[in-house]
Amino acid sequence: MPPAILGGAPAFPDGPPRWPRPDPATAAVLAAAAADGSWGRYHGPHVPALEADLAALHGVPHALTCASGTLAVETALRALRVGPGDEVILAGYDYEPNFLTVHAVGALPVLADVAPHNWNLDPAALDAAASPRTKAVLCSHLHGGLVPMPAVCAWAAARTVGVVEDASQATGATIAGKPAGTWGDVGTLSFGGTKLVTAGRGGALLFRERAPFQRARLWLHRGTQAWAPLGELAAALVRPQLAALAEGTVRRAGRVARLLRELAGVPGLTPFENVVDGVPAFYRVGFRFDPGAFGLTRAVFVAALRAEGVAFDAGFTSLHLGRSPSRFRAAGERPEVTAAGLGCVGLHHPVLWGDEEDVLRVAAAVRKVYAAREEVRGKL
Ligand SMILES: *Cc1c(COP(=O)(O)O)cnc(C)c1O
Repeated sequence: MPPAILGGAPAFPDGPPRWPRPDPATAAVLAAAAADGSWGRYHGPHVPALEADLAALHGVPHALTCASGTLAVETALRALRVGPGDEVILAGYDYEPNFLTVHAVGALPVLADVAPHNWNLDPAALDAAASPRTKAVLCSHLHGGLVPMPAVCAWAAARTVGVVEDASQATGATIAGKPAGTWGDVGTLSFGGTKLVTAGRGGALLFRERAPFQRARLWLHRGTQAWAPLGELAAALVRPQLAALAEGTVRRAGRVARLLRELAGVPGLTPFENVVDGVPAFYRVGFRFDPGAFGLTRAVFVAALRAEGVAFDAGFTSLHLGRSPSRFRAAGERPEVTAAGLGCVGLHHPVLWGDEEDVLRVAAAVRKVYAAREEVRGKL
């Protein structure tokens, strides 16, 4: 059977599963909001209830919601008083808007190396990135990877440097016994349309201390008026998803374990590994792709799996590429950042909600493409 990219039948003829997934809880929230009019209010019950849920779920005293995860990251930096003249350390392989958000508050991004085993921020790279101007570390848990937060927090505490922990891709994860997003001085979440918990748009902040919480709340208001809030309806839609999050995290982790067992013999596709103890949340399942070993370029691999109806993507572009050197400070050689930008692939999460059969089909599609690699290379 040829792979779909050469005209064979795709593994998933209807393409990747839809997200957000069809859920009776969503329909119930929409009907209830239509009936009670809460969808159309400035101040209703849902936003305060969601903020209370977020705080309780994460075991922190304070949570805030806002219009996006990107705004949450900006608000977090402002809550730590990051501003002009300051430096913020982040991974050289990271979500590009986070880099731009450091500029948005007037600070300079400093790009640190990532760890070879999961291409997430490497705490061992912080020393090389530090300077007297370092005000904060901004770390994201990416593609099922977990940043070793105990090490990052210990490093930062010894220098009175703040920590923003972006758990947008790790909502529901646990690191060394604590929820992702609660290690940093401020944690951030996203409820964007592709995220594990979604309202189409939206974000949240988590705080252990009262002072940054108050600064964040002040920043998000003009007097009594919130200028970029989460809407009441969005908050109502997030609440049942949050209640189901723990179950979803376990389910996805089980599917990923099965998938990785099935893919174990495929050359050139090495799953991310975490060195810190924890339970990852899989917004994406990250892999280090080696074109030489697999026998296809990364772009062709992704195109071939997409043709199968499997939502593989290339990862991010390394942040230093194509950018004026005046826009960042580069800390050291950062060999893994370059490798990550060229070699990362990720499988998008919706297929992990399905039956075990679905991940077996994903694995079979990968093996089919691998088996046909020479033919694919010859024809493309
Ligand atoms: C999605 C995401 C965000 C925030 O995204 P919004 O679309 O603005 O809610 C922040 N960081 C990471 C790592 C993300 O994946």
